[in-house]
Amino acid sequence: MGKVIGIDLGTTNSCVAVIDGGDPVVIPNSEGSRTTPSMVGFTDGDERFVGLQAKRQGIINAERTIYGIKRLMGRKYRSDEIARLKELLPYRLVENVNGDAWVTINGKNYSPQEISAQILRKMKSTAEDFFGEEILEAVITVPAYFDDAQRQATKDAGRIAGLTVRRIINEPTAAALAYGYQNRKDARVAVFDLGGGTFDISILELHDGVFEVISTSGDNDLGGDDFDRVILEHLIKRFEEESGVDVSEDKMALQRLREAAESAKCELSTLSETNINLPFLAVDDSGPQHFSMNFQRSLLNDLCYDLIERLEVPCRQALDDAGLNAADIDEVILVGGMTRMPAVQERVVELFGKTPNKGVNPDEVVAIGAAIQSGIIDGEIKEVVLLDVTPMSLGIRVENDGFSAIIPKNTSIPTRVSKTFTTTRDNQELVTVAVHQGEQRKASRNRLLGLFNLTGLPSSPAGVPRIEVSFDIDTDGIVNVTAVDTRTGQSQSIEVTGHSGLSDEELERAVSRNA
Ligand code: AMP
Repeated sequence: MGKVIGIDLGTTNSCVAVIDGGDPVVIPNSEGSRTTPSMVGFTDGDERFVGLQAKRQGIINAERTIYGIKRLMGRKYRSDEIARLKELLPYRLVENVNGDAWVTINGKNYSPQEISAQILRKMKSTAEDFFGEEILEAVITVPAYFDDAQRQATKDAGRIAGLTVRRIINEPTAAALAYGYQNRKDARVAVFDLGGGTFDISILELHDGVFEVISTSGDNDLGGDDFDRVILEHLIKRFEEESGVDVSEDKMALQRLREAAESAKCELSTLSETNINLPFLAVDDSGPQHFSMNFQRSLLNDLCYDLIERLEVPCRQALDDAGLNAADIDEVILVGGMTRMPAVQERVVELFGKTPNKGVNPDEVVAIGAAIQSGIIDGEIKEVVLLDVTPMSLGIRVENDGFSAIIPKNTSIPTRVSKTFTTTRDNQELVTVAVHQGEQRKASRNRLLGLFNLTGLPSSPAGVPRIEVSFDIDTDGIVNVTAVDTRTGQSQSIEVTGHSGLSDEELERAVSRNA
């Protein structure tokens, strides 16, 4: 059997690791770095590059440099949301027919899956250079709070990159796996994962080689990019106050300010103040305008106060769902680059009443966990069992837009639950079941996974047909629905509409375009 690799496909950076001789190893890329910026750059021709090279061209070629693509994966947007995104991002987006945001480069449209596939390809070839053999299989991590469509989109990205995705695992679970595998002691741990795009918190019990997730919570729209954005807005305002020039429409100036915002944020994790110097940021009638500013950590903390406050609710929720108090947690593990920010660490101490564990590298721990899961799959690691949960309730729409949960959140996966449906009218030939995922009481506020039309029901009075619909969540957190007419034993045809993601044709086209 060939090697299975572990990939942390991050919003900002990605990392690949494998099990080599029983130990997890992070593989450096061709530039010698252990992590690779999750950025894809295009030239004005057909050439593409991934990682550091793409990052370098970001300033001079912002329109053709894609970053943060993970945030668009498997997501559906309303037109007004896409319009807002278009304003925020330096690269161009188009609205795809079913509400996905695709990227437009040099007149061609690319799905987020196809862009992510470029990053996965780079990780694949990094591993291939290391082993000197072709790699065809991978375990890829996703935020625990990713819903079905986002997981499916990640699998599709793997497929486009030429990888069979053997398993999707949750990033915090991977981190706990790495921690537990290296420490080999029983403990109850909280994994606090704040990356570039998302926030996840998971509570796990490690016991005799069994890693059991008890609860998980998070915020899919809270990450380092949001911190960068509030800093960027401050810098734009400050520059306008000083120079009278509004650069909010100037793509090149914005890109320089965005990079300066992120660098300042990172520097302020170790320094209490730093300087931002951007000569020739803009030009007006009076000549070139330069930007220079002394940036204090206290200002950073003020700007980011509201974002840091948002960390509290998911942490409390995860503890409540686990039936635990903060004092019951033995160890808090920090994951994701943003956990280096002192104000974030201080909040963790306040929330959990203990200093977090500093023994794991927050940039690599997720990929190492993915590699351990790969080792379990390819048989190199035998003494570890992983039991994960579904982060969101799965249910159906009932009367008055109500939501009836069929598989509640934090249920161990894989799992299967069946429910019997019937008709409400005589001779009804069709029953429509709307499947949603989320925690809101109104179905329309939860993510619609699909509308299942059970068709071809034999004529009978209302209430007589008994159609058993089974809802499955597999170990990847991906949902499957099947239906059987219990009177005849025949399975009903199910039409799925409204499922976000690539159609079969779009997927095939992307696979062949990238082969
Ligand atoms: P990840 O998705 O885990 O790679 O996290 C990336 C995020 O962490 C980005 O928003 C980075 O700007 C941020 N980050 C990386 N290093 C630091 C640091 N030293 N201090 C604060 N934020 C950081």
